[in-house]
Amino acid sequence: MSTRFLAVGECMVEMAPTADGTFKMGFAGDTLNTAWYARKCLPRSWDVSYVTAVGKDQVSAQMLRFLEGSGLETDRIQQMDDRTVGLYLIQLKEGERSFAYWRSQAAARCLASDPAQLEASLAEAGLIYFSGITLAILPPDDRAAFLEALRVARANGAKVAFDPNLRPRLWEDADTMRASVTEAAGVCDFVMPSFEDELAHFSDETPDVSADRYLAAGAAMVVVKNGSEDVICATQGKREKFQPQPVTQIVDTTAAGDSFNAAFLAEYLVTGNIAASVDAGANLAGRVIQQRGALVEALVPA
Ligand code: ADP
Repeated sequence: MSTRFLAVGECMVEMAPTADGTFKMGFAGDTLNTAWYARKCLPRSWDVSYVTAVGKDQVSAQMLRFLEGSGLETDRIQQMDDRTVGLYLIQLKEGERSFAYWRSQAAARCLASDPAQLEASLAEAGLIYFSGITLAILPPDDRAAFLEALRVARANGAKVAFDPNLRPRLWEDADTMRASVTEAAGVCDFVMPSFEDELAHFSDETPDVSADRYLAAGAAMVVVKNGSEDVICATQGKREKFQPQPVTQIVDTTAAGDSFNAAFLAEYLVTGNIAASVDAGANLAGRVIQQRGALVEALVPA
């Protein structure tokens, strides 16, 4: 099996407020979080690449340097002449965070626009990871091309993992979101939803219903996360439930699911042991949510 982990999606510029009223620039995104933690969790014999599109301007170059500085390979990132990266601003009002986005023209929306280039960027993968946000930002024709490229990669030996990460605001409408996510599940070895999202947008009564729905859509394995409640790992023939370690002091739940996915997949790719993989995922996520921010440097071995 190829020892190359590819995460596909959008990394954005984040402007976060500081105590003195200015904004601090960073880089963020759900699939980036997973790539970042996967790099920390996987052995050195694995390459971890981020696959996206950026511009050729200064801020895009800064993003590439950030990714490289995190140990991620950037050679599969397209650089476009006439676009740049998306941006969001975090605003605080009475302690509550709200987000303003500038991403409709982001280069990442074009990551699947050239089928030959896309196929090349997914070539020789051991595992390809993407999310519902990856799908949501693509034009509809490119979504179909992306799923086709995943089928080709899979036929060539890659495993495919997907977190539906349901964000209706990013989609043209909720029915399209549900249909696209269901279709995507059909090309996946691992579908890794969070029950809270599935309850809100598919009206699933229980996490078992979510697992059954994605198995029926064609997923080989479904891993349903549910905050402090049991993680369900289901295949057509088998279903197991695992209680995550309790966490007493939750500070910031950003990237709980993203970090879980990274540690779960890293363990599974190396050992194939489901119980150990859930343990690794829950352990990392449990530590991430006891710290502020998405990318917590001190938690994982370098
Ligand atoms: P997301 O942030 O994507 O909504 P979840 O809330 O489902 O993800 O959490 C992902 C994982 O993080 C859970 O499976 C669990 O391992 C861990 N986790 C999240 N919240 C808690 C909590 N309150 N106590 C213990 N573990 C938690």
